[in-house]
Amino acid sequence: MTTRKIKSITIAALSVALAAEIVYIGASKKDSISVFSSSEIPETLIISSDIVKINNYSVPVYEFADRDDLFLSAELLNAYGYSILEDSENYILEHTAETYDLTNTVFTDLSGYTVRDAQKKLLSGSGSHYIYNANSLFVVPVEALYDMSEVIYSDVTDTIYIAIGQQDEVNRNITESYAEITAEGGAETASVLASASGTLTAAALPQFLASSATAAPPAAAQQEQNTPQQTSGSRLIVLDAGHGKSSGSMTSAEFESEGYVKNSSGTWGEWRHWKSGTSDVPCEGSGCTGRAPSGGSCWYSAGNGDRATEPDINLQNALAAKKYLEQMGYTVRMTRTSNDQNPSFSKRISYCYPGNDLSANADASLYVCIHSNAGGGSGTAYIALDGLYDQRGISSTYVEDSNRAGKTINDSIVSNTSLSRSGSGALTFEPELIAFCKSPVPVAYLEIGFFDNSSDLSILKSESDSIGKAIAEGIDEYFNG
Ligand SMILES: [Zn+2]
Repeated sequence: MTTRKIKSITIAALSVALAAEIVYIGASKKDSISVFSSSEIPETLIISSDIVKINNYSVPVYEFADRDDLFLSAELLNAYGYSILEDSENYILEHTAETYDLTNTVFTDLSGYTVRDAQKKLLSGSGSHYIYNANSLFVVPVEALYDMSEVIYSDVTDTIYIAIGQQDEVNRNITESYAEITAEGGAETASVLASASGTLTAAALPQFLASSATAAPPAAAQQEQNTPQQTSGSRLIVLDAGHGKSSGSMTSAEFESEGYVKNSSGTWGEWRHWKSGTSDVPCEGSGCTGRAPSGGSCWYSAGNGDRATEPDINLQNALAAKKYLEQMGYTVRMTRTSNDQNPSFSKRISYCYPGNDLSANADASLYVCIHSNAGGGSGTAYIALDGLYDQRGISSTYVEDSNRAGKTINDSIVSNTSLSRSGSGALTFEPELIAFCKSPVPVAYLEIGFFDNSSDLSILKSESDSIGKAIAEGIDEYFNG
């Protein structure tokens, strides 16, 4: 993954006239940036017969009649967790959402749309690209994704395969793409078009595929830590059922009461970090660790958290966990209790403090994020912490405690439900999540099953009580061994 960071940018809403915060990203083909000379001449989009697959799903691709450059709609990329930000000089493509959900998503057919140069370049990873729009509908060259992805191509399948997401997803998707090429008898034609991580090369492709099958869990997750001495009765657990009401349905009053702020361009969201050493001063783009997903910034738009299927799954699991924790004598605070709520991370984290007062000393013992995964895969996992966190209140063993809690709870889910362990159980490529950067107490971040996998979904729907019990037992084991 690229380590580029963008700071201090002003983020503009792209004033989309459709549904809430649809941003349009496009894409071009292979290495044809120079073709994109800035032009005042409007051009008409047509559907391309070329094939582009993102994580092995074919996506609608557009081109101009007289050129072979390829574009994707920003609306599509938005559904894959990408956002386009804007500062005074550029647009900036960033990948912010940890999961994505294409279920029930209908994309605008841009065939016949007349587009013009958007007048600003699009920065993505280390690259700079022309971007086009038709009024507020943006298309982005496919190539813009190359600076943030692993990309392979085969003449035999005549398909560009783009792999995005967490590293284990990327590995799995590249493996599947390669299998498709091999099945068509074109293994020797597979070539690497781009590798944002720098790890995927043509020569290394077979090796890469072999090694991706044997990723090891991080050493920290294996360590035995000291066991806290308190009894369950004096312990306070915050259960955070991830996601919630869609931002497109929220009123300004709701955004405000849920702890969101507007940036200078009128987009609701929040800052990813506190100022270093504080627990209640939003970074506003500086004075913080600056940690963000690859290509990302300190700003997080509320729309990036929108999910269709996941909110209720998470809520049912969290409510079941609450019931069992209370039976064991724990005190539980919920960050939300209905699917009509969608608290900001700052608001969710405030439940770690007495009276939701971020300036007080935290009285919670553990913050448990209850999510479900998507994007192709199966089984249950936790997201591991790693690196620098510098918010007020965390202990010197914040990372180790968090990872041990995540592993213990996830192992309990594997042992006590029909869900399998996803890979090693540890997702190690997203250590910069907002909850990790804002919580004053250890965070167990669970991705329980894949709700876009029909087998997992059926388990999620029929075993939420068992999943909740397993979460409660895992939490108790974390504290009491
Ligand atoms: Zn920041």
